[in-house]
Parts: sequence; C-alpha cells; structure tokens
Amino acid sequence: MAEELVALSAAELSEKLQSKEVSSVEVTQAHLDRIAEVDSQVHAFLHVSADALKAAGEADGARKLGAKLNPLAGVPVAIKDVLCTSDMPSTAGSRILEGWIPPYDATVVARLRKARMVPIGKTNMDEFAMGSSTEHSAYGSTRNPWDFERIPGGSGGGSAAAVAAFEVPLALGSDTGGSIRQPAAVTGTVGMKPTYGGVSRYGAIALASSLDQIGPVARTVLDAALLHDVIGGHDPRDSTSLTEDWPSFAEAAKAGIAAGSLKGVRLGVVRELGGEGFQTGVSARFQEVIELASKAGAEIVEVSAPSFSYAIAAYYLILPAEASSNLAKFDSVRFGLRVNPPGGGTVEQVMAATREAGFGPEVKRRIILGTYALSAGYYDAYYGSAQKVRTLVQRDFASAFEKADLLISPSAPTTAFKFGEKLEDPLAMYLNDVATIPANLAGVPGLGLPMGLAAEDGLPAGLQLMAPARQDAKLYSVGATLETLLEANWGGSLLARSPMGKALRATESEKGAQS
Ligand code: GLN
Repeated sequence: MAEELVALSAAELSEKLQSKEVSSVEVTQAHLDRIAEVDSQVHAFLHVSADALKAAGEADGARKLGAKLNPLAGVPVAIKDVLCTSDMPSTAGSRILEGWIPPYDATVVARLRKARMVPIGKTNMDEFAMGSSTEHSAYGSTRNPWDFERIPGGSGGGSAAAVAAFEVPLALGSDTGGSIRQPAAVTGTVGMKPTYGGVSRYGAIALASSLDQIGPVARTVLDAALLHDVIGGHDPRDSTSLTEDWPSFAEAAKAGIAAGSLKGVRLGVVRELGGEGFQTGVSARFQEVIELASKAGAEIVEVSAPSFSYAIAAYYLILPAEASSNLAKFDSVRFGLRVNPPGGGTVEQVMAATREAGFGPEVKRRIILGTYALSAGYYDAYYGSAQKVRTLVQRDFASAFEKADLLISPSAPTTAFKFGEKLEDPLAMYLNDVATIPANLAGVPGLGLPMGLAAEDGLPAGLQLMAPARQDAKLYSVGATLETLLEANWGGSLLARSPMGKALRATESEKGAQS
C-alpha cells in the first residue's frame, strides 16, 4: 500500500484523496517513510518537516468538514531551499545561512499552504543556485536516482532527485539559467520555467533578479500544471509580477492529453540548439521526437537564432553582476553567519572574515566576476555589451515565433555526467546550460520533459519546448500531447524504467503476491 502511494502521480493521489479512498495523513506518512528509507543514499533533502503530518491532518479535517478544496489539497510537496519558509531553515545551500529560519513565507509557499498542500521538506541545491550539479552545495551533493555515481543536475538537483526517487510527487524549483529544466533533463522528470513575472519571486532568495523564476517540478506534465495553478498569478509584493489572469494550466494539460494530435501546431527546431557539442544519444532521441511530432500532425520548421551562440557569454556577465549586488546583503550584521577574526576587528574585517568563511568557491568566483564587470572602467565593455546581446536574443525569439508557435530543442546537451567530471573546469560546467539560458534572457517560458534514454549510457535525455511570453498554457497542452505519445511508445512512464522505479514495482508485486 505505502509503495503504491509513492508511485502515484499527484493527479492520481488527488483523485484518491477526493474520493476519500486514502487520507492525506496516510499519503504523507508513506512519503515520509520513503524519505527515511532512501534519502540517506539520494540526499535530496536538507531538512524534513516535523509538521508535515500536522498539515496533512488539517487537510483531512477540512475535507471532512466538506470544504471546497484545491485539487492538490493533502498532496505532499518539497520546496527548494532557496525559498523562505517560516517553519523550516532556509539556507540556499550556503554555510552563510546555516540554520537561518526566515520570519515569513515566500508567496509561493504561502500559496501551497493556502491550497492545503503538505510541505514535506527543503531540497538540496548548489549554493545560491549557482551550478548545474549540486556539487556546489555546502551540504554535500545530491545523487542522481538513475545512477548514484552521477549528478542530478543543478542547481535544483535536490527537487528533481526527490521527485525522481519517488520521495515526493511534486516540488518547487527556481530557474535562473536552467536550474529547473536541466535537472529535469538528467533525472527523467518534468520541470517548467514560467514566463518571467508569472510566478511571484517574493521570498525567493535572489540570485539574478531579472532572470529568476520559480516553477514546478513533477513526474508528469499534468502534475506540473496542477502545481503551477497553485503558485502562479499576480502578487502585489513582487514589483515584476504580471497582473493578468491566467488560464487553468491543468485544463490545458488535460486538453493536450485528450487531443492525441498536434495538427495545426508549428514546431520550430532551433538550428543553434543542436549539433556540435550535443551528445549523440541525446541528438538521436531528439530526432525521433521530431519524427513522432511530425507523424502526429505537427508542422516542423527550421528556425535560426544566431545570437543564441552568445547567450552563455552574456549570461555569465549579467548573472554575476546581479548576483554580486544581491549577495551584498550577507554582511554578518543583518542575519546569518558572523565570524569574528581572532582578537576582534573592524566592521569591514568582520564582514570579510564572515564572507570568506561563509561563501564557497563558486559564489566567490561569481562575486569577483560581477563586481569587475560592473566597475566604472569596464561597465560599458562588459555589462553594457551583455545587455545588447540580451536584446538580440529577444529579437531572435520574436522572429522565430513568427515562423513557429513553439520552439523545440534538447534541454541539455548531455545526459547526467559523473561527479567531479566538470568541477575543476567552470566553463565546461557552464556549457551544460547552453539550451536553457536563452529563455531566461528573454523571459519566455520553457517546459522540460523526458524524451527517452540515450543509447550509449541508458540515461535520460531531456526535451525542451519554449513559447512566447504569457503562452505557458500552450506549453502544457503540447507538452502533454507529446508526453502521451512518447509514453505510448515506451509502454508507461520513463521513470518506471529507472532502477528505483523498477525496485518500487518489484516490492509492490511481491507484496501483492503475499496478500
Ligand atoms: N547552472 C546555471 C548557473 O549556474 C543556472 C542556475 C540557475 O538556474 N539557478 O548559473
């Protein structure tokens, strides 16, 4: 029974909860047991909530009273540690915030609670969301559930691994340059970076404010849409929050599942997001998806976005510039760590000692890069040029969207790499975000979903769909159609074929045989 519950999608759990076949306390206990069983190996969580069962009991209580509840009421959800939670430490994977409990909830967290979802814990991440592997977490790496020797992607590797290891059906992530979509790609999960401004950033510990977006992490497109419906929409506390009403993303996903066809959809294959530098098995799977989509009625067009070739370079000036400013608040005075140099010191010396001890090497590297790029003599040459490239990227998107409704590409150039493989070479690590960064620079939404296993290593490869700003619903409907077509070929979900998915099914059928 417990194994069965953790194998279910959030939509399936929702049905069982609504029909009162199971209680939220049972569902939550099953996931807590699963975390206790496997997280010592996976290390997806930095903190497991002591109040999860209480929240579950409250959701059950509300249901008993006949309250009209959100479809996800009673469903457990994990929260990336970059989001402020008033009842759990929020460290952003950094020593400088070790043990820090914020005085308030991020808006997205408050919305989870309002929907009576059950926050089950905080997930591991690269320090301040800088990285593509979780190797930059101050609290140790998370392991990829497909192969414990490999990275789960980053920075949101904890959220992706928790979902892929069936520790929780849903999680929140943040995506500044790919931290939702790249982990989704390498763990065989689904992740969405919404349109910039579509989801509140209030209470998200900022990395680069003009690029950051919070979004859902799930095992199915419909589940991601259900969670997006809970967290999205205007928030007066975020000055960049869009004010419009959004359609139901879950309805869009359901329509996509029902459609079974892609007739009338123009899919643009981006020439610059493929070919050289992309792993053979990833490119092969991508070609198959294109053929599948074409058979399902989609019109495939080739589009070119020449400025995408400069996107990484521009990103690694804009991001460090904004990050260096956002991280200035960790000054040893207001909150977090304070280190006093031996024999005391001036304010500046205490600040320097604190930042020296509290920040890891990648964070220091980016602060140095960012302050350099912003310094008076270099501002125009570096930051100014990067902003110009950003405009070109936006123009390339605009002209691509004249020819295509959605753009399609692999979401990462490779499958999961081994621990240590790129740690000593920051540039190699940065290159893993080549396909995801353009969407952040332009503020457009991007959905990542599994597209099969690469032949050479048997590891998941990720597909990305991108839409014009505000057209998130279209991603969910086309994404759900593609997912349905792909799963028909695979004979079920890709994650069921992972070692942990297989083990789960084996225990289930053993128990079935016993009873
Ligand atoms: N890997 C990218 C980086 O290191 C993406 C980070 C993110 O999206 N938070 O900057």
